[in-house]
Amino acid sequence: MTARVETLPAERTGLTTSMARGFLGRCPHCGEGRIFGRFLKVRPDCETCGLALHSHRADDLPPYVVIFIVGHVVGYFILELETNYDVPLWFQLSFWPLVTLGSALALLQPVKGAVVGLQYALGMGGFATLPVGPSAAVSRPEELPRGPSDTRTPGLGPV
Ligand SMILES: [Zn+2]
Repeated sequence: MTARVETLPAERTGLTTSMARGFLGRCPHCGEGRIFGRFLKVRPDCETCGLALHSHRADDLPPYVVIFIVGHVVGYFILELETNYDVPLWFQLSFWPLVTLGSALALLQPVKGAVVGLQYALGMGGFATLPVGPSAAVSRPEELPRGPSDTRTPGLGPV
């Protein structure tokens, strides 16, 4: 491994930074590795720091957020154009569906990355443990307090 792995932060990255890194398609922990292998497909783990990304649970939140954003922005401009300008109907019917589709497709992956960053920052799902670099291999990984969904038996951790 490289020396960069040994200098990984042992603490979880903050919420804003994690979401910004995810929005840009970067690993929320190290900010170096890429989250996505191809369009909307999250990599199993970070190629740089080894953070396990496969257990994220973004589910339907990214499309919901994208619909919320695009619907409000496009809806506003449709109403603005319709009330203040004399725009032909054929233009409205051909332009806005393309803008809606294009902006939704453009926003979907960054928003999904931000949701993965959000889950990482809050320690949700499979992000309860942080990656362990080679220098910290003898110590146990950092853990967040156990939540109600944690089914591990107390006191029977690795020895
Ligand atoms: Zn990483």
